[in-house]
Amino acid sequence: MQVFKFGGASLRDAAAIRNVATILEKYQQEELLVVVSAIGKTTNALEKVAEAYHRGLVEEARTHLYEVRDAHLIIVAELFDGQLPEELGANLNDLIVSVEWALEDPPNENYDYDYDQIVSLGELMSSHLVAAYLNHRELTTRWLDARDVIITDNIYREGWVQWPATQERATKMIPPLFKDGAMVLTQGFIGSTTENFTTTLGREGSDYTAAIFSYCLDAERMSIWKDVPGVLTADPRKFDNVSKLDRLSYKEAIEMTYYGAKVIHPKTIKPLQNKNIPLYVRSFLEPDASGTLVSSEVEEAYPPLVAIEDQQALVHISTRDFSFVAEHHIKELFEQVTELRLQVNMMQNRAISFNMVFNDVDDKVDRFCQSIDANYKTMIDRDLELITVRHYTPEVVESLRKGKIVKLEARLPATLQMVVKDAPVMSRKSSDRISQ
Ligand code: ASP
Ligand code: MG
Repeated sequence: MQVFKFGGASLRDAAAIRNVATILEKYQQEELLVVVSAIGKTTNALEKVAEAYHRGLVEEARTHLYEVRDAHLIIVAELFDGQLPEELGANLNDLIVSVEWALEDPPNENYDYDYDQIVSLGELMSSHLVAAYLNHRELTTRWLDARDVIITDNIYREGWVQWPATQERATKMIPPLFKDGAMVLTQGFIGSTTENFTTTLGREGSDYTAAIFSYCLDAERMSIWKDVPGVLTADPRKFDNVSKLDRLSYKEAIEMTYYGAKVIHPKTIKPLQNKNIPLYVRSFLEPDASGTLVSSEVEEAYPPLVAIEDQQALVHISTRDFSFVAEHHIKELFEQVTELRLQVNMMQNRAISFNMVFNDVDDKVDRFCQSIDANYKTMIDRDLELITVRHYTPEVVESLRKGKIVKLEARLPATLQMVVKDAPVMSRKSSDRISQ
């Protein structure tokens, strides 16, 4: 069997969903598990619902919720010639009503809990919609609730997969669903605690979901369908002259995605590597093109590969008693890092300070600094970029440094990393000119 993942861009509108069905038609003979994300930018819209609700703005939350509902209904109308199939209508309605009801209650103390209950709606709606449409196209499709299979701990918004429980459920529940040549369609991004509360795996987590299923079901291969031709040497939104890589090793893919190459979710590769399952990154716009194959055997030399992660915070930490930051301090700092599930992208121990670079999401970095405030002085440098270059050359490094101030740098034989800020543009005042 194989696993396909279709992200939000590939399901953006009715035409995009028709295109997905056309791609799937070519794979009717195979056992196929399809993982879908929320449609287009639905997750961002649902985040607004969760935020408004949490701030007590229930009316605003409802307005955002109805925007999401209406966007889905417009697509349904286009796909089903103005009709709303009864079962699909009922499923979508139940989902919307469940959130409407939730909005009636006061928010939970744990924002992340409410977030997951609300934001998971995106994948649930898209999966019902796409499954109904595939069946309408006579591609027999069985809808699977991913929450019945993927079990996580109860850390909301960043649930960690409980592998043995997930494995057991996947092998028991999924193979029978392929009966009579049916395709199985399920949601990315979401899971459940053992007490049946919905969790999410972290933003952009649908790739990871596909990898979890691939691992548990011993898939022959997994494919991620994207709006780019494959894995590129750098982000085409940020650089000209990027080129597609035909092959990439798991190791290289892990290195790049961990440090901000947005093409694949960073947690995706490890489960595949552990079972040697090849990953294809392919274009839904050119479904017959070969894309990029990520696998173990790659011998060729790589060109320089650039990944950029923005929204970085550099935290300078020093002890309040002016002692060095020693091992027992670092242990204390990391206890807080673990507690907050912060991602440390770089660190450096200097004589009088310990420097850490984090993804600056939500208020986690502030919470980190507050939590260590009794014993440590901290200074936060925000709005930085982390640039990672694999297989760097002096020319590439030179061009990346242009117009930047480098705050922290680390070089290893195959990897260069720098945390940078835009250099202020300086122009001379006319009065400064030296008159002759
Ligand atoms: N819909 C979720 C998000 O936008 C998960 C995903 O797309 O992978 O983050
Ligand atoms: Mg997405």
